[in-house]
Amino acid sequence: MRLAAKADKGDRADKAARIHAILDRLYPRPPIPLQHENPFTLLVAVALSAQTTDARVNLVTPALFERAPDAAAMAALEVGEILDLIKTCGLAPAKSKNLKRMAQLLVERHGGDVPKSFADLEALPGVGHKTASVVMSQAFGVPAFPVDTHIHRLAARWGLSDGHSVERTERDLKALFPEDAWNRLHLQIIYFGREHCPARGHEPGSCPICSWAFVAEPAPAKARKSGAKKKSGAKKKSAKTAAKKKPAKKKSAKKKTAAKKKTTAKKKSAKKKPAAKKTAAKKKSTTKKSAAKKPEPKMVGAAKKTAKKASAKQTAA
Ligand code: SF4
Repeated sequence: MRLAAKADKGDRADKAARIHAILDRLYPRPPIPLQHENPFTLLVAVALSAQTTDARVNLVTPALFERAPDAAAMAALEVGEILDLIKTCGLAPAKSKNLKRMAQLLVERHGGDVPKSFADLEALPGVGHKTASVVMSQAFGVPAFPVDTHIHRLAARWGLSDGHSVERTERDLKALFPEDAWNRLHLQIIYFGREHCPARGHEPGSCPICSWAFVAEPAPAKARKSGAKKKSGAKKKSAKTAAKKKPAKKKSAKKKTAAKKKTTAKKKSAKKKPAAKKTAAKKKSTTKKSAAKKPEPKMVGAAKKTAKKASAKQTAA
């Protein structure tokens, strides 16, 4: 196993040396793609480049740097003003808030200067390890190997790292390449990816590096883990939904009881109706009875006389 590991390490080192030579030949002096004047404008440009192309950043920064050429001027701007100037960049609302706060902290903590320290840079809002690495290498010439998603992917395809994580790729690349080449290699690999990696798919046969260095990429462990998490999450969710469904059943039971109540109420009302009919019938009969019981009207006046006369006639006959 140890021998195999040593051989693998040797293979990787040979591969790295060959890749290094090709990249030096293809891109002898790679320029920094983000336009800037000083460490502050570089820091701002790199912070803006997340989820945005360098070309897009270069379109918005001239107007932004005209309004805010330094940290004090940026700190004095309203978030809305910054947003208006960078609104065509991805994640512009969050970036405008970060830029304002970052500038305030640069003034408060560092007298308006950009600190030459990974820890101090990474303590600023919107500044991660990759952004700090770019600033450290390109603004101050400190050896760093900023690894973005493209470099991470290419390092895995070339078999220089296992694609487990960006942190591991950075560690592997730093171990494989000489320190004085790190800053340049970061840019060289970016330019290589832009020129040779089409969005549509791989064609290793026509690539100056992939034609001999390409290895099938293992699924990134993080992705695998997240997939597993997703699955477990899905299970949890299904459990949750099942748990949620139970009360729904209870609800249906409630509904059933409510329905039962309704039906019993209906039945009662239905039973009551004949009773009402009966009472109506009773009322009718009572009215009839009362009508039958009604005393005959008393004869008064002329009517009495005519009745007497009639009875007299009957007796005379
Ligand atoms: S095969 Fe082509 S697309 Fe794939 S990594 Fe190599 S150069 Fe890029």
